[in-house]
Amino acid sequence: MTAKVSFDREVCKGCGLCTLVCPRGIVVLEQGAVNSKGYHVAVVSRPEECIACGCCARMCPDSAITVEKQ
Ligand code: SF4
Ligand code: SF4
Repeated sequence: MTAKVSFDREVCKGCGLCTLVCPRGIVVLEQGAVNSKGYHVAVVSRPEECIACGCCARMCPDSAITVEKQ
């Protein structure tokens, strides 16, 4: 199972909750870049390791994450 994980960069507030729940440890806060509100947003560091579990999307309090199974 592979997945495409998308983040709404303008909705993300960089709280980091999604980085804590990913069983593969591949969701990280992007360093070196911020969104228009000044937050380091979440990204998937190694997309090929995603198992499409959806934990990150369920955890996000702002529904900024979409997981599409492929
Ligand atoms: S869908 Fe699961 S494995 Fe993939 S990035 Fe989100 S929490 Fe991690
Ligand atoms: S849980 Fe949502 S708001 Fe928090 S860092 Fe992750 S994507 Fe951004």
